[in-house]
Amino acid sequence: MLRKIIFLLALSFCVTCSGHGPNVFFTNDNKKLYKNSLCMPDEKMPQMIIIPFFENASQIMPNCNIYPKHKTALALMIFYHKWVEYFGDRDFAVRGMLQKVMIRWGNSKKVSNKGFSLNGELFTSRTIIGKVEGQNIIWVWRGYDYKISESSLTHELVHLALKAKFGTYDADHEGHKYRGWTPAHSAMIISARRMMRAFNI
Ligand SMILES: [Zn+2]
Repeated sequence: MLRKIIFLLALSFCVTCSGHGPNVFFTNDNKKLYKNSLCMPDEKMPQMIIIPFFENASQIMPNCNIYPKHKTALALMIFYHKWVEYFGDRDFAVRGMLQKVMIRWGNSKKVSNKGFSLNGELFTSRTIIGKVEGQNIIWVWRGYDYKISESSLTHELVHLALKAKFGTYDADHEGHKYRGWTPAHSAMIISARRMMRAFNI
């Protein structure tokens, strides 16, 4: 009897440790959908492609090299891995955001009329490399050297994560007009980009 109780106790602990807490590995239940979602170089651009491992995440590609979907999926996984390492995600708000994010990749930079620098200073008319376009939509310039690590993907995802978590994008970053973005978020971005470089993406 005692043995049985100990066994059941051990089993319940096992369930507890495997079933809870954020997990970086996302399900890939709709495999067929992912398989069929392929960039066709001979067809009209841009094309919308479903990102594997993330339920409803998608990307708009200006050409088939920016970026192969497995690279984008890996970048999103690295982002989540780092976010959890720095901030946790007990309510799965950030995980949920990643499941439905839409990334619009851009082949050339843009000019924005208005925005904030990383330290919170307001600027007018400046070249930008990324932009939040909606609750789950970001525009991201392809980045230097055709690498996701050298794009602003991680930066824009932090805006969406803050929106999912606290209801604000915190447009002025480390400035004090809006709350949410701290120096730890800037540090997390550096750390995530370093990890992406290690994977050569
Ligand atoms: Zn920003």
